[in-house]
Amino acid sequence: MIPYGRQDITQADIDAVIDVLQSDFLTQGPQIPRFEETVASYCGTRHAVAVNSATSALHIACLALGLGPGDWLWTTPITFVASANCGLYCGAGVDFVDIDPRTYNLCPDALERKLVAAERDGRLPKVVVAVHLCGQACDMAAIHALAIRYGFRVIEDASHAIGGKYRGEPIGNCRFSDVTVFSFHPVKVITTAEGGMALTNDPELAEKMALLRSHGITRDLTRMTHEPDGPWYYQQIDLGYNYRMTDLQAALGISQMTRLHDYVCRRTELARRYDTLLADLPLSTPWQHPDSKSSWHLYVIRLQIEEQGGAGIAHRQVFQSLREQGIGVSLHYIPVHTQPYYQRQGFSTGDYPEAERYYAGAISLPIFQTMCEAQQDTVVAALHTALAI
Ligand SMILES: *Cc1c(COP(=O)(O)O)cnc(C)c1O
Repeated sequence: MIPYGRQDITQADIDAVIDVLQSDFLTQGPQIPRFEETVASYCGTRHAVAVNSATSALHIACLALGLGPGDWLWTTPITFVASANCGLYCGAGVDFVDIDPRTYNLCPDALERKLVAAERDGRLPKVVVAVHLCGQACDMAAIHALAIRYGFRVIEDASHAIGGKYRGEPIGNCRFSDVTVFSFHPVKVITTAEGGMALTNDPELAEKMALLRSHGITRDLTRMTHEPDGPWYYQQIDLGYNYRMTDLQAALGISQMTRLHDYVCRRTELARRYDTLLADLPLSTPWQHPDSKSSWHLYVIRLQIEEQGGAGIAHRQVFQSLREQGIGVSLHYIPVHTQPYYQRQGFSTGDYPEAERYYAGAISLPIFQTMCEAQQDTVVAALHTALAI
């Protein structure tokens, strides 16, 4: 089976982890700040907080922004459920904004229309989570302008997008957002096994997220309510969690970061090659906005079978045929509002037509840094066979 994504672990990665295993600290040691500095400096961001997953990073980002009961978080339906769940963790309500049919990212025009209506109803969001699907940045300048006009905060869910660029600058620099979140799950561009990071230029948000990562406990004298009782002393000043990353993971992350640029270059080559090889097939290859340089975490094709009727069946047949031919295709994502849990929150199929149309034809083809051209040719041949059915 050719998987849709796969990590690349080198001897240098393994050595870096073994060094930590033989050192004094397995967690809460020197590797965490080194990893944070490495990613922050790569992105050109002031602060970074490493955590045990992007889901945790989204949660503490929402909390640090003050999201709570009575507030609203908005995001796109075409994302992993975590981009929406973080709002519910905080006791806030979640709502969705339909996608742009070209980029499949949250559509700024749909966002504006929804904001106009929400202002009338007194239901403006406190936080909007912009997800850079496949590694292609959202229209951040437009979202940022709306954030200023309507007074909401912006989190970039860049779980797919480390190594990508927007308007010539690294995704993660938070020029148009309050916080950016990365995931280091093995299917993503670089990995720490499990892991995530929240980046921000705001020192207060960074401090708050660092506190929430570790039980809300501080050893900083300036933050304590009174003089320490003794050298053992710490204070819990907020309700936090154990969302810490280990030093083993951070060491792996630092080692992976040395290859991030090469990874994105290789993924870009593979994407361009797919664009050429698939040009004559009845499908859409991923359209790219000129402002974006994608990290190419995913390569999503859309089948042009809607007009023929029975779209769902044809899509499923093509997908199944690819799997039977040993191609580990996937589908990113099932629209979140159609999940049973979200249906119980009051959402219905039909609420976000562009997202649902996308879902009816999308397939994620294999793309990963160690993929060779022969494997890619196998995928393309399998797709020819599948579409001939
Ligand atoms: C993978 C992913 C997450 C969750 O990442 P974890 O590190 O597994 O918690 C969140 N959002 C998006 C868009 C993702 O792809």
